[in-house]
Amino acid sequence: MFRLYDTRLRSVTEITPARRGELRMYTCGPTVYRFAHVGNLRSYLLSDLIRRNAERHGLSVIVCQNITDVGHLADDAEIDPEGEDKILAQARAEGKTALEIAQFYEEAFRADCLALNISPADYSPRASESIDLMIEMIGKLIESGHAYVADTGSVYFDATSFDDYGAISGNRLDSLRPGHRFEGNVDEHKRFHADWALWKGAPSGRELTWDTPWGTGFPGWHTECSAMSLRYLGQVIDIHTGGIDLRFPHHEDERAQSNSLAGRDVVRHWVHGEHVLFEGRKMAKSTGNVVLLADLAARGLDPLSARLAFLEHRYRQQLNLTWPTLEAADATIRRWRERVATWATEPSKPMCADYAARIFGALDEDLDTPTALRALRELERDARIPAGSKFETFAAVDQVLALDLARDIGRTPIQAELPAGAEDLLAERATARARKDFDASDRLRAGLAELGVAVVDTPEGQSWSLAR
Ligand code: AMP
Ligand code: ZN
Repeated sequence: MFRLYDTRLRSVTEITPARRGELRMYTCGPTVYRFAHVGNLRSYLLSDLIRRNAERHGLSVIVCQNITDVGHLADDAEIDPEGEDKILAQARAEGKTALEIAQFYEEAFRADCLALNISPADYSPRASESIDLMIEMIGKLIESGHAYVADTGSVYFDATSFDDYGAISGNRLDSLRPGHRFEGNVDEHKRFHADWALWKGAPSGRELTWDTPWGTGFPGWHTECSAMSLRYLGQVIDIHTGGIDLRFPHHEDERAQSNSLAGRDVVRHWVHGEHVLFEGRKMAKSTGNVVLLADLAARGLDPLSARLAFLEHRYRQQLNLTWPTLEAADATIRRWRERVATWATEPSKPMCADYAARIFGALDEDLDTPTALRALRELERDARIPAGSKFETFAAVDQVLALDLARDIGRTPIQAELPAGAEDLLAERATARARKDFDASDRLRAGLAELGVAVVDTPEGQSWSLAR
């Protein structure tokens, strides 16, 4: 069917869904406290590419993606030394409520995905609306001895209770040092430094807290993905995607939670997307080099130029974005749309089997989009292939690439190419008509007809079209 790089197995692996004809995929979603930058969006594009390619194989694809609107602490000490909830911090900064912040940025996220042709998830549960699920899950983990309650009302997962910890990232428990930067300072209530909070006790009265059998508080960030994935996709999930930085601790912790609950390996394949750099440095708010889709629009670039710029590299390669790269991608998209519109006016012909096999073969081989695009460019230039076949092939490939290549059909004037020599004859004929030399004009019209160019005279002058 198709293959993808499985981070845990460390190899490119055949993907065969566990249920016949149906692929279930979970993809880590946004924390909705700011605009997504195009680096974030590349991570979300990964699951869209997998989905579109799987659908081409006739699979029905079910995707669940969380919306984090509570519980994501700013772990990076440089951003927030207090470990404050990202949404609450932003609400304070903007003088709004947490709910207003979350709603606004969730909508912005949906609009960005739409602009990039990233299909919406079938389920996109919000963390704040899934608290019951999380409480139920934490209760089960306590009951089965995988989690413990501290005096503070916080609940921790006991990392040592899960033997296979570290299988995705290679960060095994015995090699993890206390105070690793992802976990912040070692919390004295933990039994072991690598344990993590499933639930954080908090004073009641703090915004975004809930009551539980252990006291008031809010969920830890890793909790929601297990609770939601098990609820919406079940105990067998074909693919789980996310950005490469989520391998550890987020995905290790999630895997430990889900597997301990289900008593089996829940996720069959972990797939991770590499980072976007901008002008040589990882795109991040803290670096100050973020590019938003709004920045592309301000420069008159189609948002899909970001999609094409991403596709020029395989998802698990780092990608260095620059303005010239985005401008080049924009020009390519416009040219392709124009070509597709022109080819669409030509007689219909079947898809070009050789090129289609090369392009789809590359997509099936671990989403090798650079190779697919090279073949597509070759097809564009190949003079042996009839326009109708080019049209069919581009249209079929665009089901996966989703660059809206058929957008200009019927919209733009057709830029038909004149056969060699026709331009000179047309110019001569225009001059002959100006001289009222109608014999010469008729002779030249006959000459043009032999080249396949039909000429008619209109009040505005002569007009030509290519004879079919
Ligand atoms: P964050 O908003 O930092 O939680 O990131 C949301 C998603 O975007 C996660 O899946 C990250 O792995 C991913 N991500 C963050 N920065 C980048 C980047 N520069 N390039 C690609 N993905 C990123
Ligand atoms: Zn997640």
